[in-house]
Amino acid sequence: MDIAENSALFPTYAKHPITLIRGDGSRLWDEQGKEYLDFMSGLAVCNLGHVPRKVKQRVQEQLEQVWHISNLFRIPNQEELAQMLTVHSCADLVFFCNSGAEANEAAIKCARRYHQRVLKNGRFEIITFEKSFHGRTLATLTATGQDKVKDGFFPLPEGFLYARYNDIESVKDTITEQTAAVMLELVQGEGGVYPADREFVTQLFALCKKHGLILIVDEVQTGLGRTGKLFAYEHYGIEPDIITLAKGLASGFPIGAMMGKKVLRDAFSVGSHASTFGGAPLAAIAGLATMEILLKERLFERAEEMGAYAIQKLLDQLHHYSVVQSIRGVGLLIGIECVKPVAPIIKELHRYGLLVLPGGSHVIRFMPNLYVTKEEIDRAVDIISIVLTKIAQAASVE
Ligand SMILES: *Cc1c(COP(=O)(O)O)cnc(C)c1O
Repeated sequence: MDIAENSALFPTYAKHPITLIRGDGSRLWDEQGKEYLDFMSGLAVCNLGHVPRKVKQRVQEQLEQVWHISNLFRIPNQEELAQMLTVHSCADLVFFCNSGAEANEAAIKCARRYHQRVLKNGRFEIITFEKSFHGRTLATLTATGQDKVKDGFFPLPEGFLYARYNDIESVKDTITEQTAAVMLELVQGEGGVYPADREFVTQLFALCKKHGLILIVDEVQTGLGRTGKLFAYEHYGIEPDIITLAKGLASGFPIGAMMGKKVLRDAFSVGSHASTFGGAPLAAIAGLATMEILLKERLFERAEEMGAYAIQKLLDQLHHYSVVQSIRGVGLLIGIECVKPVAPIIKELHRYGLLVLPGGSHVIRFMPNLYVTKEEIDRAVDIISIVLTKIAQAASVE
């Protein structure tokens, strides 16, 4: 595309030819003033919608005070956010960084160091899953169970093995004497919105206990209300040893968090891990304000209710289109699986003012903010119907 060719940016993104310059709640506007209904939320980042007023106010107050303080000093916002995250989860300790990949990188380092320095057993292997997505650093792209993210980046770090998702026998076959941890998403988001089976997760939890493996749950996309619970692991009645967060944590300010159980405390001694920007005052206040609103307004319950409404609406209105293969999801993380690649459909949806994302090549991801209304869901589903009808008619004419 000519836009990319004239740009001083590395061409790492297939950029849509839309320039969004203003946002408010579920709505975004481009340079021409055209309005869009946002059902991707900056990739599950803007869970409170665009420019949430209460977060904005707290960030503005912080902007007047101080912007950055080194982690070599105490940062009250950061400590308060850590406190809030641990009170409302099964974790006891938090390490702050700046992204999902960094949170997963910290999780991998924590699990390895726990085995190597605390238990002194030298274990290092991490089992992850096919179709998973854990980030783009060398370790996290190696953890990712998709070949396309690895192409051209060899050699990759050692010690990552892949099992089949929702297949406990495959995990058992992959465990060795060197296995340190198992890492998974409870709904595979980038891979195409595949939820983990309850029985699989229960068995996996027991298997980790039996073999002394650290269970890392990557909640970078599922965390913080999106699936109808504050954390997706709550759907399964398990307690992970490590939980990673990022996307929805600070309404758009870059932040990531690796949360762990008390027993992991000594895995990280002073100087063993660090981040210059991780949990600095601005991102931390944005996280704190976001969490306070989420909890006070119990937005995860709203996500559950609106998610159920959206799934029903999508099923009712889209089931008769031959291009639609299945509709599935948890809370407001919903996938519409199609029988062919969805990129052209998504392009057309943009023209009609609906912003959605693909998940894998054949799935349309539906991820509105947690304040989304029934009217907005109705409008989004109507736009999808219009576009699918148009595409079906065009195909029948050919
Ligand atoms: C987006 C995502 C990541 C990577 O997060 P970044 O902030 O882009 O590094 C990791 N894991 C999951 C499940 C994600 O959805």
